[in-house]
Amino acid sequence: MFNLILFGPPGSGKGTQSERLISKYGLKHLSTGDILRAEIAAQTPLGLAAKELMDNGQLVPDEVVIGMINSALDSNPQAGGFLFDGFPRTVAQAEALDKLLAQKGTSIAVVLALQVDEEELVKRLMNRGLTSGRTDDTDENKIRVRFGEYQKKTMPVAEHYKNLDKLVEIKGEGDIDDIFQALSREIDLRNQDRA
Ligand code: ADP
Repeated sequence: MFNLILFGPPGSGKGTQSERLISKYGLKHLSTGDILRAEIAAQTPLGLAAKELMDNGQLVPDEVVIGMINSALDSNPQAGGFLFDGFPRTVAQAEALDKLLAQKGTSIAVVLALQVDEEELVKRLMNRGLTSGRTDDTDENKIRVRFGEYQKKTMPVAEHYKNLDKLVEIKGEGDIDDIFQALSREIDLRNQDRA
C-alpha cells in the first residue's frame, strides 16, 4: 500500500493535483471537504451540523472527521493506497490517522506540502468562489478566518510529519503540469524504495 497526504493551505491546489495523482497512481482519493459537502447536499444531521462551521471558515470537530475517515478506510479494503486531501488538519487527526493505518498494517509514505504565498491564495479562492458555488469562498473575511485556523491548528501537522522525516515541501505556484511533475518525482522516489 502506498498512502500519501497532500498538504497545504486552502487554495493551494490540493484538489487539482489530487485528481491527477489518483489517476496516475491508482490511489483512492479521500477528501474530508468533499465528504462533508456530500453530507450537506444529502442534508444528513452530520451535514447540517457541519455546514455552519464550514461557512464560517472554522474546522469541524476532530471526532467527526476521524469517524468519516475510519469508515472510508473500512469501506475500501481493496484500495492499493489512499491519497488524503484536507486531512489531517490537526495534530489529533494526524495521530488518529497514524493509529488507524498502523492497525491495518500500513502507514503514511510521504506528506507532500504545497507552498503558496497568502495573497496568491486569497486571489485563487475569491476566483473559485465566482464559479464553485462554495459559500466559504466568497467572503474575504471568512477566507482570512480559514487561514487563521490553518496557521494555528494545521501547520503543527507539518511539524508532526517533519519529526517523522516524512515531510517534503513543493512549490505550489507556477505551471500546473510542472507542479504535478515535481509531486510525481517525490512519489516515484518512494515507490521505488518499497519495490
Ligand atoms: P479548503 O482547503 O479549500 O478550505 P476543504 O474542501 O478542504 O477546503 O474544506 C472546507 C471546509 O470543510 C473547511 O474549512 C472545514 O470547515 C471543513 N473541513 C474539511 N476537512 C476538515 C478536517 N479534516 N477537519 C476539520 N474540518 C474540516
